[in-house]
Amino acid sequence: MLLDIHTGSRVELVDITTQVEEHVRDSTIRNGLCVISTRHSTTSIVINENESGLCSDILNMLERLIPPSAGYDHDRMDNNADAHLKAVLLGSSETVPVIDGKLVLGTWQQIFFAELDGPRHRNVDVTVLGKD
Ligand code: ZN
Repeated sequence: MLLDIHTGSRVELVDITTQVEEHVRDSTIRNGLCVISTRHSTTSIVINENESGLCSDILNMLERLIPPSAGYDHDRMDNNADAHLKAVLLGSSETVPVIDGKLVLGTWQQIFFAELDGPRHRNVDVTVLGKD
């Protein structure tokens, strides 16, 4: 199943937990794994707390660690090396257990799509594997 995501900023965290939960519920899988993966090399999937201060802390951390236009080789042909490097740091997928038809997430855990070179139209694959 493919999620359509339209991002509104260059860098942004989009909470996709509800859409992923809906797909798990609509699948026939009761026990197994849910893999959430992005198809883009300048986006990531992250699990953490959806608290607005923390979300801006995460984005500010990325800007400090990997500032834009800091002399990267890739910027010579495509001016978005910082977005690729941030995506390398955060990773392109997450895997969450599914038990009794529900995602196993902690109380303060949400699934985020991380846009790192938006705004753009993006796709995220949600794949549920396991037994009915
Ligand atoms: Zn690029």
